[in-house]
Amino acid sequence: MRQILAFLLVVTSSTLLAQKIAITLDDLPFGYSGGFTDEQKIEAFDKMLHTLKKHKVKATLFVTTGNLNEATKAILDKAVAAGHQLGNHTNNHYDLNKVSAEKYIADIDSCRQLAGDWINSNYFRYAMLHRGNTRAKRDSVYAYLKEKGLLIAPVTIDNNEWVYNRGYSLAMKIGDHKNMDQIAKEYLYHMKEVTARYQKLSLQLTSREIPQILLLHSNPINADYLGKLLDWYKKEGWEFVTLDEVLEDEFYSIEEDYVGPYGFSQLDRIKRSRKSN
Ligand SMILES: [Zn+2]
Repeated sequence: MRQILAFLLVVTSSTLLAQKIAITLDDLPFGYSGGFTDEQKIEAFDKMLHTLKKHKVKATLFVTTGNLNEATKAILDKAVAAGHQLGNHTNNHYDLNKVSAEKYIADIDSCRQLAGDWINSNYFRYAMLHRGNTRAKRDSVYAYLKEKGLLIAPVTIDNNEWVYNRGYSLAMKIGDHKNMDQIAKEYLYHMKEVTARYQKLSLQLTSREIPQILLLHSNPINADYLGKLLDWYKKEGWEFVTLDEVLEDEFYSIEEDYVGPYGFSQLDRIKRSRKSN
């Protein structure tokens, strides 16, 4: 009897403690390629789709139409057919710290028009997560998004995956498999570290573990290692849920007023915002 109770306790607590996470991938059809041909990009994206399917993940994928050509439109077709949500990630991936609000808004609009056949959600994600280095710029883009019914897709687990991808892609280009393996190992270690960092920050700010939003990209390192990364989350007890579900959590209604040049996690935006009050 005692054993049964202990078992029930473990099952119940692990269910209660299941951490939720939404997976998002930016820069579709394909980000920094290290010289990939269109065929290789499509093949690499197929690997990511296969991994998502294996883990029963419905992800939210953000399109940068400047990366798109006739051949790679197939990637967007495949993403939609696989049941993923597609959102707007601008046309030219401008840095809002460096361009005017007008130019940035026109670029969001270009993406809306060019990817209108595929975009099937109202989500918008800022390039580099930069929301503007001045209040005026930030507020102009906010007003535009509101007018068009676009919803900001925040990130909580921000990370340097793109840096590892750059090294990995360069090593891949010259066929340096030893370096590729080493970089991949460091990439996975880094992701575990940043996940722990944002779990801790979540506890500090809200006294609980909020459902998280992971930022990743459609790129070579994830074509090869997304599977290993998702295996790890699963092993750690994380449950993969949709961005819609995560955003229902009250954490995402907390108002924050960070203005500045950094592309922060939503947790860091709130932390900074509190500090300045
Ligand atoms: Zn991006």
